[in-house]
Amino acid sequence: MKLEELDVEGYEGVYRAELETSDDEEPVAIIAIYETTLGPALGGTRLWDYETEEDALEDVKRLSKGMAYKAAAADLPLGGGKAVINADPEKKTEEWFDEYGKAVEALGGKYITAEDVNTVTDDMAVVAKHTDHVVGLEEGLGDPSPITAKGTYHGILATLKEHEDYDPENMEDVTVLIQGLGKVGGYLAEHLMEDGVHVKGSDIDEDSVKRMEEKGVEPVDPEDVYTEECDVFAPCALGAIINDDTIDQLKCDIVAGAANNQLKEERHAQVLKDEGILYAPDYVINAGGLMAVFNELKGKTLEEAKRDAAGIEDRLYQMFEEARKKDITPLEAANRYAERKMEEA
Ligand code: NAD
Repeated sequence: MKLEELDVEGYEGVYRAELETSDDEEPVAIIAIYETTLGPALGGTRLWDYETEEDALEDVKRLSKGMAYKAAAADLPLGGGKAVINADPEKKTEEWFDEYGKAVEALGGKYITAEDVNTVTDDMAVVAKHTDHVVGLEEGLGDPSPITAKGTYHGILATLKEHEDYDPENMEDVTVLIQGLGKVGGYLAEHLMEDGVHVKGSDIDEDSVKRMEEKGVEPVDPEDVYTEECDVFAPCALGAIINDDTIDQLKCDIVAGAANNQLKEERHAQVLKDEGILYAPDYVINAGGLMAVFNELKGKTLEEAKRDAAGIEDRLYQMFEEARKKDITPLEAANRYAERKMEEA
């Protein structure tokens, strides 16, 4: 493993690690630390086959800054960091994570890693052979997705309380459309159905749709997901799905889901507001996963993590109140809250 620091303005440290492997692949990991004023930078490792290393660098920078805002808005004593491994996920081997673990260790605890897109607890178990600066392990609190889903569920309750047409006491009257019935989307559907919510769901993976249909989810064709009638649209798959093309099509009053980076650009928060659609800032509503790994780091229990995730309901509602009072978007209210926390630190 060869590690070098890159010269990147505005970031506390960005590191490039060449993972030396015995196969033909030459994975490069980039670890970006946006800031550590509130605490060590905690963020997952995304395994993705980027077109260029420049694309990987841009993505990890964006993601690590997002983590700093997520931690600060959740009142967690954590900074912002994230890592990407630029390689074909289909070809991943244990050796990659052996090498990657050495890179994480070399940063001496400034960066703490966990799983993310295309990396799983087993991969982190390999990383843990080389460093203690890893969470999301099987012997810890395990997969954070159920906690993310719980937080998202409570976030949706906050949106229903905020929106004048809804009442969280009458969940039977509410229809939620979930895009992406994966780990988070699946658990979220179950939480909502327990309350009597009518849940529609869409996924490009037919098995996931079938599994959730058996539990009572009404399937929606992925191509129709933006035009389908619903009260709450809950993106739980991809980023950038709220954009100039989709906003005009949406037939919902609320956008509240777990997917990261739902807005193609920040200005789309204002476009949603102008359209009368209430938007729950993604990094606030989906912070349950980060709360789970933070609790694991502190040796706390799953119950404590669940309690923290339930707190997203009040946290988000306070941001809606602030946005209402100041006539700003909920995203702007969340950004201001996070920036204040970082400045105070
Ligand atoms: P996942 O991979 O388990 O699920 C994603 C699902 O979306 C898959 O079933 C996939 O088939 C589906 N999908 C992909 N493209 C689609 C499309 N065009 N239309 C419909 N479905 C599509 O991932 P996850 O862990 O459930 O995470 C979902 C989202 O939530 C991601 O954006 C992730 O970054 C975010 N998130 C997850 C966590 C967590 O704890 N897992 C925490 C915070 C944020």
